[in-house]
Parts: sequence; structure tokens; C-alpha cells
Amino acid sequence: MRTRRNFIQKMGLSALGLYTFQGLNASSFSLLKQKAADGPVLRVALMGLGGYATRVAESMQQSGRAKITGLISGTPEKLKTWGAKYNVPEKSRYNYENFDAIRNNPDIDAVYVITPNALHHNQVIRSARAGKHVICEKPMGLNAKEGREMVEACKKAGKKLLVGYRMHFEPLTLEIHRMRTAGELGNIKFFQGLSGFRLGDPTQWRVNKALAGGGALMDIGIYALNGCRYMVGEEPVWVTAQETKTDPVKFKEGVDETITFQLGFPSGVTASCLSSYNMNNLDRFFLNGDKGFAELQPASSYGPIKGRTHKGPLDISSDRPQQAVQMDEMAAIILDDKKPVIPVDGEEGVRDLVLIDAIYKAVKTGGMIKLG
Ligand code: NAD
Repeated sequence: MRTRRNFIQKMGLSALGLYTFQGLNASSFSLLKQKAADGPVLRVALMGLGGYATRVAESMQQSGRAKITGLISGTPEKLKTWGAKYNVPEKSRYNYENFDAIRNNPDIDAVYVITPNALHHNQVIRSARAGKHVICEKPMGLNAKEGREMVEACKKAGKKLLVGYRMHFEPLTLEIHRMRTAGELGNIKFFQGLSGFRLGDPTQWRVNKALAGGGALMDIGIYALNGCRYMVGEEPVWVTAQETKTDPVKFKEGVDETITFQLGFPSGVTASCLSSYNMNNLDRFFLNGDKGFAELQPASSYGPIKGRTHKGPLDISSDRPQQAVQMDEMAAIILDDKKPVIPVDGEEGVRDLVLIDAIYKAVKTGGMIKLG
């Protein structure tokens, strides 16, 4: 019989917290509170102490296997307050000019790059050259060329490169992945991914082409794009795309407000996706097979993620933040060479960047882009 423990292990989620499962008998699914994962600790320097880094840092307090031991920021005041809050000594605090010196810091195993997109390429390469593993936020770089160079640099340095794809460790996402892999949805026919939010402050780096590299697609549409690959379980062979812009003042040339894109997969599956900086409540995945369906809504928020399939609601929940689970799992990938169910390595990041390049090209040409 499938037990909770087996199920969690199968998902590679030994770190997950509170679960309820529909389908298990009543005695076996009383709520279980699991502790954070045990094992060697990954000592992490956080680079870029902004909005998302704040969430990561707070969540890491619930990680059993990842600890903040370094800080990199351009703001001395932040280094001071974060240093005091997370007990990071002055000798492990750096700025963007001098952080190559982490090479000589034995208390740091990895750098987690959480800066605007355009900075990732240089910062990841410098971190690898300084002899550290790297976790880089999505999108990994601005284009596939940058991504490949980042993968190459980490390979050359003998260091691992992971991308902050937190949904790859999210329990409902993994349950749908399991159901699809087990054939419970039959032959997959179609995927729909809707990812967006209404962007506020028009002065932020997200609408600055030089720092963001693009618009909604780089930032939020990447969830639908990345999601279609692991939900369908194939790599696309063609893509088409169309752009709509209603606010050219806020979303200047090269910064996409809304893009619809369609992809075709080798088996004949098609995907239809929407990426937008101009719609709220836009966070839904739908996977259709000839034996059933699976749906997530919200699909990629910070949680709780909600879902259902043709069998009924997915009654799974965790009391631990996604980023705590992600960091436990990433520590295991880096330190124990654990293989995640859905990859989060640099090559995975490059696959998304190849598709992002193709989508922007399809928008420009209005044609279908065939993929190698
Ligand atoms: P943010 O604006 O809140 O923080 C960015 C940080 O980078 C700030 O501390 C800022 O001071 C610093 N920075 C360094 N150099 C800078 C420069 N030249 N210009 C502007 N800022 C500079 O942004 P964020 O929301 O934390 O996003 C950072 C990265 O994290 C992005 O790549 C984004 O896509 C990613 N992100 C991922 C998730 C996720 O769920 N995985 C969520 C949000 C953001």
C-alpha cells in the first residue's frame, strides 16, 4: 500500500511539512508535521538583498539543510542590518565590486543570485570562478547564448549551477507530474498555461529593457513556458507567438506587456499560453489527456497551490514555505548529488531561454519557429 512516507520519498520531498492526501485510508492520513530535512548544511551567500531575497532569507530559517553564511549587496546599510539579523559576520559581507574574494572564504559553499535579470550572467560566472556553486534566479540569463556561457563557466569551474525553479519541488505540481508519468491521464493532448499579474510601479527594473532583458515573458510568462515542458513531458518542436500592447508608455520598445504563444510537441500535443503584465488573477495550468485532466489554480504563486484532477480535488498541503523546501532539496542536489524529479540545472534554464528567444523571434516575424 502506498504510504505517506513512500509518496513523499517518491516525490523526492523528504523535507515537506504538513500533508493531507485524498485517496489514503482515514487512519493513514491523519496530519503529519514533518521536520526540515537533516543532512550536511549548504552554506549560502545571498546576492541582491531585494524583495525576493527577503522572502528566501526568511524561508531559509525553516530549512534544515541551507543556511545564510554570506551576504552580497551594493547597499552598506543592508549589509549591516541583514548581517545582524542573520548573524553573518562582517568578514562574510561583500559588495558587487569585491565579492570575487569569497574565493578565500571557507564558510561559503554557494552563491544565490537574486538580482535583476541582466546581472545574472556576469554574477554567476564570477561566483563560479570564485570556486562556489551557484543558484541563480529565473530567468537564468537574457538569452540562450548567455545561458550556455553560464553553464560552461560552472562546468569549467567544476561547480553546480541550479535555477530557482521553486515549482519543481511543489507537492501538487509533483503529484500531477507523477500522475502523468504513471499514465493516469492517458495520452496527453493539450496544455494551457496562463501566467500574469498587473505590474505596478512603472519605474522598477522590470520595465527597464536593459535590466530585465524583456517584459512579462522573462519574469512571469516563464512559469507557463517552463510548466508546459514538465507538464507535457516533451520538448517543443515549434512555437508561434503574438504580442499585444495597450500601454506603450509603461511598456516601452522591447518590454512585452502581453504575449500569447503556442507550442507543438513531437507527439502532437499542443500548448497554448498567455504571459501578461496587465492582468490579475492569471495563474492557471490545465493539462488534458485522453483518460483525464489536471488543473492547478493558482499554479505558481507562493502558495497554497490548489488543484484538481478528473479524480477530484488534490488534497495535499504543506505548512512549510516553498523556498524552505526548495533550499533543502537544492542542498541535497549540490551536496549529495540527488537527482530531482524535475530538473533544475543550468541546462534546464537554457532550454527555457532557447524558447524565450524563439518566442521573441516569432513575435517579430509573425511566423512559426521550428526548434532543433
Ligand atoms: P527587487 O527589485 O526586489 O530586488 C533586486 C535587488 O537587486 C535589490 O536589492 C537591488 O538593490 C539589487 N540590485 C543590484 N544591482 C542592481 C541594479 N543595477 N539595478 C537594480 N537593482 C539592483 O527584485 P526581485 O523581485 O527580488 O527580483 C530579483 C530576481 O529574482 C529577478 O531575477 C526575478 O526574476 C527573480 N524573482 C524570482 C521569484 C521566484 O518566485 N522564483 C520571485 C521574484 C523575483
